Amino acid sequence: MEEQIRKLLSGVVHPETGADIVAGGIVERIAASEAAITVTLRFPKGRDPFAVKIKNTVERLLADHFPAAKTLVVVREGGTAPRPDLKEQTTTGDITRIIAVASGKGGVGKSTVAANLAVALRDLGFRVGLLDADIYGPSQPKMFGVEGYVPDAVEVDGTDRIVPAVAQEIRLMSIGFFIRPTDALLWRGAMATNALKQMIHQTQWGALDFLVCDLPPGTGDIHLSIIGELKIDAAVIVSTPQQMAVADVVRGIEMFRNEQVKIPLAGVIENMAWFTPEELPDNRYYLFGRGGARRVAEEYGVEFLGEIPIIRSIMEGGDEGHPAAAIDPRVGERYRAIADRIVGKVMKNG
Ligand code: ADP
Repeated sequence: MEEQIRKLLSGVVHPETGADIVAGGIVERIAASEAAITVTLRFPKGRDPFAVKIKNTVERLLADHFPAAKTLVVVREGGTAPRPDLKEQTTTGDITRIIAVASGKGGVGKSTVAANLAVALRDLGFRVGLLDADIYGPSQPKMFGVEGYVPDAVEVDGTDRIVPAVAQEIRLMSIGFFIRPTDALLWRGAMATNALKQMIHQTQWGALDFLVCDLPPGTGDIHLSIIGELKIDAAVIVSTPQQMAVADVVRGIEMFRNEQVKIPLAGVIENMAWFTPEELPDNRYYLFGRGGARRVAEEYGVEFLGEIPIIRSIMEGGDEGHPAAAIDPRVGERYRAIADRIVGKVMKNG
């Protein structure tokens, strides 16, 4: 879509220079989704007499060709803005603690745990943000019922900020706001890394006690680049009982312990530990075996943070935009105990 817009705009010519605005470098930035298009035009000369005319032309073209999208054309003047050094200029400065939620593989409930953990931390009275960095299957927008959210960009002190969604008092930024589900697999490598960097450093997080970061499943380059951008205080690994002892989980543990990474492991959470039918709330069926998480935790010297059973409200809550910890006391209690343990750990570390 951005290419399409670029092509469209290359039909607009600056009357004075005779060059089209794309080739002439006036189109500084295009950001587009089906719902919103932002184009930044930069005129090297201050008070360029053609700036307004060109802006109007661009607005009209975008409105004609993309009638369904909200469009914003920003005009800037003067030489190219120096690219902000992301390491220095970051909106993460007022975040006290960052907790990463990881898993050896997909489908074990990592995102569900991240969402419920965020809610539990909120319930403990903390200001909480949630960064959904799972490029393979961003599910936080759905889990918090903000799927259609299109982040606005605002300019603060000369830098662009992205406005997070706020759901259940949690500030949420998700890679899912920027891609369509069918795009996910194409978004590997450099493109995803750059988008994540921007999300991390330009989101208007404000002051937060905790930022929960929902990492992509597995271990790989993308993890290393996220880890490199954030000062993660603690990592949590989520697994199901039958995955617990498997190499994936061990690789996860090793990734955080790697010399170059060295992120403290808060511990492991066993998800889908047993099944309790609604009508027999006291019965526990250990469908996938029992005790695996404790064994792995012991073997690798990481804490066992707690177990979450398979409960229908957890699945339904995730589908309906209300993490179960917020509505089902049985779930809320378990998550609060886990959150308490994590808080105890990260507050101790300085
Ligand atoms: P991941 O992030 O590891 O890929 P998800 O969090 O998306 O996994 O969970 C996968 C599916 O399992 C979702 O449909 C979710 O609602 C469901 N689920 C996760 N944990 C539980 C649980 N404890 N009880 C019932 N359903 C769960």
